[in-house]
Amino acid sequence: MEQSKRRILIVGGVAGGASAAARARRLCERCEIIVYDRGPYVSFANCGLPYYVGDVIVEETKLLVATPELFKNRFNIDVHTETEVTGIDRSRQEIEVRNLKTGETRTERYDSLVLSTGAKAIRPPLPGIDSPGIFVLRTIPDSRKIRDAVQNATRAVVVGGGFVGLEMAENLRHRGLEVTLIEMADQVMPPLDPEMAVMVADRLEENGVRLRLGAGVQGFEENTDGSLKVKASSGEELDTDLVILAIGVTPETSLFESAGLTLGERGGVQVDEYMQTNDPNIWAVGDVVEIQDVVTKTRQLIPLAGPANRQGRVAAGAIIREAQGKEKRIQFRGVQATAVCGIFDLTAASTGASEKMLNRQGIDDYQAVYLHPGNHVGYYPGATSIHIKLLFSRSDGKILGAQAIGESGVTRRIDVIAMAIQMGGTVFDLEESELCYAPQFGAAKDPVNLAGMIAANHLRGDLPLADWKELGTNNVDLIDVRSPAEFERGHIPGAKNIPLETLRGRLSELSDNKDTWLVCGVGQRAYYATRALMQNDIAVKNLSGGMQTYQTFQKAGLLP
Ligand SMILES: Cc1cc2nc3c(=O)[nH]c(=O)nc-3n(C[C@H](O)[C@H](O)[C@H](O)COP(=O)(O)OP(=O)(O)OC[C@H]3O[C@@H](n4cnc5c(N)ncnc54)[C@H](O)[C@@H]3O)c2cc1C
Repeated sequence: MEQSKRRILIVGGVAGGASAAARARRLCERCEIIVYDRGPYVSFANCGLPYYVGDVIVEETKLLVATPELFKNRFNIDVHTETEVTGIDRSRQEIEVRNLKTGETRTERYDSLVLSTGAKAIRPPLPGIDSPGIFVLRTIPDSRKIRDAVQNATRAVVVGGGFVGLEMAENLRHRGLEVTLIEMADQVMPPLDPEMAVMVADRLEENGVRLRLGAGVQGFEENTDGSLKVKASSGEELDTDLVILAIGVTPETSLFESAGLTLGERGGVQVDEYMQTNDPNIWAVGDVVEIQDVVTKTRQLIPLAGPANRQGRVAAGAIIREAQGKEKRIQFRGVQATAVCGIFDLTAASTGASEKMLNRQGIDDYQAVYLHPGNHVGYYPGATSIHIKLLFSRSDGKILGAQAIGESGVTRRIDVIAMAIQMGGTVFDLEESELCYAPQFGAAKDPVNLAGMIAANHLRGDLPLADWKELGTNNVDLIDVRSPAEFERGHIPGAKNIPLETLRGRLSELSDNKDTWLVCGVGQRAYYATRALMQNDIAVKNLSGGMQTYQTFQKAGLLP
């Protein structure tokens, strides 16, 4: 097919589809490019919708990143909104298109077809699920309906503690509603490990969000006054004026299924590294596809805007190069689920695998370290802590994942580690990273360096680490090296206080026939103590992250 005659049809005109369309035009001026979306808008900011409900974004038009007119005028791309693609005839290379305003249907021929149909919100078949007042949030019209409902509401129940659920809880509080969040798991924010997620839960509760964790919703009932009753598996019944269902999404694969395109184990569409399906003329991108996770090498569904945008770009590039008879060249590298969520001025971000994910995949070659450095040097006003968990391979130091929570500087650290993971980096690379420093921005040893140093010290044998989950299960001599005043304010049961400053003169007090574990406030003094004791031939281990980490493990119920 000559490049001038290539007809590229794109189904879905938001993150992945709009990206594919614009990139295709940049690479091929003479191609015919047409986008179809069954919704009234294309290229809108779905990530901004919770903030529109919360009145943080006040003008709806700000959510429109690009309009059909802009696509036409700037890119010469035809956009058909409120137009649903209802079928694909692969042998004739045609799609069936229905105009939702007129009901008229027609067929359109394609040379290349890109499907970016996204995902749909899960609506389980629970009793009362279709009652008025139960909303999902995927589109601008959805957000309008919720905004209208909020006008007459004083109470809301959010079902689901993932990103969208948390963002909605915050925004509904912002609108002055009483908010209860129900989550079936024992923690909020599934990508985080439980001892990290407790910090998010605390912040929600501090801001008036009532949490019901470990409780599923069993059904809904309409009250006589028009309000709703949410029935939880715990037996609790919650009266509310509106419900937001945010329990996840499932890939929108109906078109693929009816066309006989191959789906993967997780129910997403199978594509190769160029986003090509098992039909060489059909490409799929975004929430609808299963993609290899770069850390675990398993195929995952990762519904995030960044991968959708990059995949759209990759697919367009591959289509055009193939049409030109050239090697396809740019591949999608895989996903690592780098994500961030803001919760009442707290930022929680993660990249790569969590410990839960490693366990689920049967990967046991890993070690975790915890640290709580400042976002910038302590002497410059306004320093706040960043709570970091870094996971890496014990055998070669390869970085497997990281999670960070704090009020400032969190995304910068996770972004650096995300890049290191994509490059196949190790903790030795983090140790040696050269990062920005001036007092108001960081420290000469940045939190990323510190995480790498702790992990690298461990791998070199200079800092043996104890496993928090073994605390209390084995017979160790637990020494708390903080000051007596700090020890008095709270300590781990069974710990003995030998302040770092007196430790060198009290070596005889350490047990000869038990392992010695050291703990302090955040891990720093215990590290100094570890080095001193190791050089006195005493076998020691350090509880990384100190008492701050202890408290999160305890709150998460992970200690015996
Ligand atoms: C409330 C909310 C907040 C979010 N926040 C974030 C965030 O902060 N960060 C982040 O990374 N991600 C976020 N996401 C996820 C992100 O928006 C998605 O991962 C991304 O939009 C996926 O892009 P996509 O192109 O695959 O699908 P979508 O953007 O969902 O687009 C799919 C489009 O296809 C259309 N379509 C489907 N089937 C057909 C058909 N048969 N015919 C015609 N049109 C069809 C749909 O109408 C839809 O417009 C958020 C999502 C939501 C809903």
